[in-house]
Amino acid sequence: MIVVMEKEASREQVEHMVRRIETLGLKAHVIVGTERTVIAAIGEKRSQMKESLASGAGVAEVVPILAPYKVASREVKKEPTQIVAGSLTVGAGVIGVIAGPCSVETEEQILSTARAVKAAGATALRGGAFKPRTSPYSFQGLKEEGLKLLAMAREETGLAIVTEVVATADVPLVAKYADVLQIGARNMQNYRLLEAVGKTDRAVLLKRGPSATMEELLLAAEYILNEGNPNVMLCERGIRTFEAHTRFTLPLASVPYLHHKTHLPVVVDPSHGTGHTYLVPDMAAASIAAGADGIILEVHPHPEQALSDGYQSLTCPQFEETMDKCRRVAEALGKKL
Ligand code: PEP
Ligand code: MN
Repeated sequence: MIVVMEKEASREQVEHMVRRIETLGLKAHVIVGTERTVIAAIGEKRSQMKESLASGAGVAEVVPILAPYKVASREVKKEPTQIVAGSLTVGAGVIGVIAGPCSVETEEQILSTARAVKAAGATALRGGAFKPRTSPYSFQGLKEEGLKLLAMAREETGLAIVTEVVATADVPLVAKYADVLQIGARNMQNYRLLEAVGKTDRAVLLKRGPSATMEELLLAAEYILNEGNPNVMLCERGIRTFEAHTRFTLPLASVPYLHHKTHLPVVVDPSHGTGHTYLVPDMAAASIAAGADGIILEVHPHPEQALSDGYQSLTCPQFEETMDKCRRVAEALGKKL
């Protein structure tokens, strides 16, 4: 249920309602909007609850949340959410650009990429230290050593770090170094992991599972939000279909659809979404045109030598050209990149 407070409701009245909601065995999420404050009361609904809450001082009305996801829903919060994590701002008209290699490999590789993407206009650096690889025989990442190299790159360039966490037990370690915790596509429905990142104070980039519906993606986000972490960005990274000309099929209608259903920002990953370097620049520009709040792009100084995903990585000059193209699209939409 949504407890909509009156415009002139006092802080004490809001706090009082939070306590009343909690006494009913529900969780209260306070959302302060530009117009008025609403409190999402989440949990099992029992009879008379609505009436009981509606009688509270300062309450304008109590309405049910129709969507199965609650805190993520536009019904609860009309204004788009903006997430700020160090140098990265995403959402509410600001487009974030996260760029870097699939995996952190060497000091030289990550530092040279960080410098190049920063110079070309990226606002965050990506790089996997813990890699979820399809084969156990593939490169699994440098783990903590990789995280240290990312921290070194942040120190030098000021770029926020986006890096994946693959296991619940690794969350404290990865959160120590990362500005944004990436939940990979394979882990979108690892609910204990979602709860664990929901307990941190780090922003989360939640990637869509290759066979997950939009509703499943939003319910996965709900696991994180429900733990009290409001900073979740959703990421469309392509789904598995019968089509074989691309690694995955990248459905860009997800972007306006998600904007319709949720206030959370939406990031697109054209690198995994296409799986081919030559398709990435146009699909990055198309993502911006579709209204994406951010893009995440794989960039490697020598893609042919990459230990993972080289075939879909841009070189640094290609990234620069892609940025020019995206910037023109963003400007046409009255946005800044
Ligand atoms: C990645 O970002 O390198 C990655 C493994 O992505 P995904 O989880 O979307 O496959
Ligand atoms: Mn990758």
